[in-house]
Amino acid sequence: MEPDSKPFTPVSTLGEFGLIGHLTNSLHLLQPSSVKGVGDDAAVIRYKGNPYTVATTDMLLEGIHFDLTYTPLKHLGYKAAMVNFSDIYAMNARPRQLLISLGISGRFGVEQLEELYAGLHMACTRHGVDLVGGDTNSSLTGLTISITVLGEATKKQLTYRNTAREGDLICVSGDLGAAYLGLQVLEREKKLFEQDASFQPDLSSYEYIIGRFLKPEARKDIIDYLERAGITPHAMIDLSDGLSSDLMHVCEQSQLGCKIFNHKIPIEERTAQTAEEFGLEPLIPALNGGEDYELLFTVGTDAYEKIIHFPEISIIGHMVEPEAGRYLVTQEGTAIELKAQGWNHSAPMRTSLPAQEDGRQKK
Ligand SMILES: [Mg+2]
Repeated sequence: MEPDSKPFTPVSTLGEFGLIGHLTNSLHLLQPSSVKGVGDDAAVIRYKGNPYTVATTDMLLEGIHFDLTYTPLKHLGYKAAMVNFSDIYAMNARPRQLLISLGISGRFGVEQLEELYAGLHMACTRHGVDLVGGDTNSSLTGLTISITVLGEATKKQLTYRNTAREGDLICVSGDLGAAYLGLQVLEREKKLFEQDASFQPDLSSYEYIIGRFLKPEARKDIIDYLERAGITPHAMIDLSDGLSSDLMHVCEQSQLGCKIFNHKIPIEERTAQTAEEFGLEPLIPALNGGEDYELLFTVGTDAYEKIIHFPEISIIGHMVEPEAGRYLVTQEGTAIELKAQGWNHSAPMRTSLPAQEDGRQKK
C-alpha cells in the first residue's frame, strides 16, 4: 500500500458516524428478512416460516492471516466475506446478513476503507447478503477484520459434520490445492522484491492459482445444484484447512472411517505444474493445503447418478466402518493413513507422500 501516491483522506475528517454513513449509504437491503439494517442500535432480522438461524464468525489479523504487500484491500474485503459465506453453505444453509467490525490504524484513510468495502459489497451482492451492521475502531497496530454472517435453513436442509453414514460417497466440489500454491508464489515474489526493489514479477502464468488464494468463491452453485437435484447431503464441511484435516473432522464426528483414492482427487493442471515447480507432489497441496473453500460432503449411493452428471463435483471415495481406519489408496493399491495436517501459513509442507507408513497393504 502506498498512501503517499494516492488520495488520502484521514478517517478523522469524517468522524466515526460520518465514516459509517459514507461507507454504507449505498447499501440497499436485498433480503425480506432484513427488517432494519445499518443506522440503529442493532439490526433487526425476522425469518418467516419455520427456519433455523445459522451463525458464523471469523477474524482476520494483518500479519497473521493476510499480508497487505500482495493483497489488494478490495480482494481482502471480498475474501473476508466469502470465507464466512462458505461456512454457512457448508451447513447447507443460505447466508442472509453480514456484520463487520474493523480495527484500523492511521495508515488507513477513507480511500483504503472504500476499497475494502467495495470488495465486501461485491461479495454481498453476488450472494444476496445484506450488510446490516458493524463497528469501526482505531487500532495501534495493523488491520483487524471481524465478520459475522447469519444465514437460514429449514430443519430438513441443515447438514452437520457428524451425520455421515457408512457406505456414503465422499464428494468434493471444484479442484484442490490451488490456493496454497497461489500463496507460495506470492510469498516467493515478495522475497525477490525485498531483495531487489526494481524486480518486476511476471505472474501471468500463475493467474489461476493466485486468484484462488486472493479471491475464493464460496460454492453457492453447489448448494443450488444439490437443491435442484433434490439431494440433501448426509454430512458436509467446507475445505478451509485442507482435504485431509477437514475429512478427518467428518470421520471423527460421524465416528466412521474413510477410504479415498488419489487418482480421484481433482487437481487442476495449473496447480499440478506449480506444485512440481516447488518440488511438491501435486497431491500434497491438495491434501494438506488450505483455503480452497470448496465443499466436501457425503451422500447415499442412491444419489450417484445425479452427482456424476454435475461436472463440478468429484466422487473421491466412501465412508467405511470405523475399524477400517482412514486411508488414501494409491493406484498401486498402497494405503496411506490420512493425517490431519491443518492449515498453517508458515509451516513447511512435506514434499511427498510417505511410501507406506504403516507397513500394511490395503485393497
Ligand atoms: Mg468451515
